[in-house]
Amino acid sequence: MGTSEDTNNGVTISFVKNFRNNKGRVIPDKQGDTGGLSAAGQFTANGKYVPDIQIRLKGTLTGDELAATLVHEGSHAVDRVAFVAGCGVSGCNQSLNLTGRQTEERAYGVEYDYWQSVGLGGEHSYISSQRQIDIFLGLHPEVCPLKYLDNPIFPPNL
Ligand SMILES: [Zn+2]
Repeated sequence: MGTSEDTNNGVTISFVKNFRNNKGRVIPDKQGDTGGLSAAGQFTANGKYVPDIQIRLKGTLTGDELAATLVHEGSHAVDRVAFVAGCGVSGCNQSLNLTGRQTEERAYGVEYDYWQSVGLGGEHSYISSQRQIDIFLGLHPEVCPLKYLDNPIFPPNL
């Protein structure tokens, strides 16, 4: 896939053996995550931030699991690139600063669309609607801690 510098779209994909929590314990069910905002201090000539979004995928994923995880994390990357694109020297367009719940609803929504497209929607009914996704998020605080779920994903003062 290369680096942000190679493709110049500001999104880098890498693979990890395992995801670990902040105590170093392996999180067995975690398959991917997306982070990053911008390369610190880097502005283009027209005053835009340079996005530096990082997608990490579990290296053992294959087939539909890999594709569905890439669709999910890709949705988070799209949300983040859109926010960074709305930043300039005078600040960022905060209306593009989604909450954790909003970006997860979008990511699980397109992930469900993928599962349906390969005939496996029935096995993923727990993410088949916004209501189901909200219930899922409430039961799985490891996706996004509940106390942060309705906070914007980027600092509100950017
Ligand atoms: Zn997600």
